Amino acid sequence: MAASYKNPETIVLHAGYRSDPTSNAVAVPIYQTTSYQFRDTEHAANLFGLREFGNIYTRIMNPTCAVLEERMAALEGGVAALGLASGQAASLFAIQNICHAGDNVVSSTDLYGGTWNLFANTLTTMGIEVRFVDPADPEGFRHATDAKTRCYYAETLPNPKLNVFPIKEVADIGRSLGVPLIMDNTACPILCRPIEHGAAIVVHSTTKYIGGHGTSIGGIVVDGGNFDWEKHADRFPMLNTPDPSYHGAVWTQAVKPLGPIAYIIKMRVTLLRDIGAAMSPFNAFLFIQGLETLPLRMRQHCANARAVADFLAGHAKVTKVIYPSHTTGELKRRADAYLKGGQGALVGFELAGGREAGRRLIDALKMFYHVANIGDARSLAIHPATTTHSQLSPEDQMATGVSDGYVRLSVGIEHVDDILADLKQALVAA
Ligand code: PLP
Repeated sequence: MAASYKNPETIVLHAGYRSDPTSNAVAVPIYQTTSYQFRDTEHAANLFGLREFGNIYTRIMNPTCAVLEERMAALEGGVAALGLASGQAASLFAIQNICHAGDNVVSSTDLYGGTWNLFANTLTTMGIEVRFVDPADPEGFRHATDAKTRCYYAETLPNPKLNVFPIKEVADIGRSLGVPLIMDNTACPILCRPIEHGAAIVVHSTTKYIGGHGTSIGGIVVDGGNFDWEKHADRFPMLNTPDPSYHGAVWTQAVKPLGPIAYIIKMRVTLLRDIGAAMSPFNAFLFIQGLETLPLRMRQHCANARAVADFLAGHAKVTKVIYPSHTTGELKRRADAYLKGGQGALVGFELAGGREAGRRLIDALKMFYHVANIGDARSLAIHPATTTHSQLSPEDQMATGVSDGYVRLSVGIEHVDDILADLKQALVAA
């Protein structure tokens, strides 16, 4: 069913579900259940042995989550997906699924602060090295790769730098070396489909635009089904040698008849089974609701953000506007090549008055909410240097694009005149 609709506006309403098989309910029911009765012992044994697919226990699968997973796989042009408890869990699982101690990941420097911390600190304690590379030169990924490199990692529209990542360029380098590219597409669902440009895996924090209403934390990993894990068996022993945690299954062989889903099935039945960062069915229901209006919302978010960027660019107290359409040269080429139908709703800007002006502006905003979030229908603002990025060293803050006077807006879908009016009055105080 995932492949039957091509247009995002239709996929978000119809992919993966028509009506409930028992009640005929049109809205996706919330299957608030922990477990599922087996028909008989043979059925139970077949499910555990992966000879038959079906529900076992909600930590590893749930029918409400399954609809979201199928819809997101269709939206991103992948073959299957796995919903998780948060975007952070999705980033971690995407890597842990193919990396263990002694392996390395080559990552873009342009990352959300939480991901930077996960990579620079927590993964290191697990023995996984992350090699950071400036994506200004895609060749940096090739130079940082060795026999222990298991994946590349980047954000499509990195929060807060907002320099669009060279997806095809880096995916092509990776494919020539047998290294898959994992893209965090949180900031630009609908606008970009990284799998079409060669990415192998897409992750999202569904907390943001997909939920869209600031109600729920969640994440998802989408498997593009377009990476030949078997061909690069030496690089991916975790997918090509017997897995002692699942009675010796070799993942690339075990699920072959079901399609190119070795990566995502292994994640579900081993990592999710063991670590348990499951998405709740109630949250999946809310994400499904959000997804239904995502294409409409993204259009309005982007139109408003562009108007905000243009307004800020003409303001005397603003020294720099950070927004894809306000870039030049190669950055502009990348923005135009990878973002279609809008250039996102995150707008950064720097104030002449630095850190103190940033604080004053945030305190003077009346309609914008001052929160550590993006992608809500409401407009949001934050001063990253004193909040989301405060745990980073000054050098690391600069590497992720956070200067003292940087203010980040997540522009909402209110009337643009009200958004601009709030900014105008707050800039008087800045
Ligand atoms: N990726 C990006 C780009 C984000 O902006 C965030 C959160 O802000 C995350 C991942 C983490 O998502 P979550 O807060 O759902 O764990």
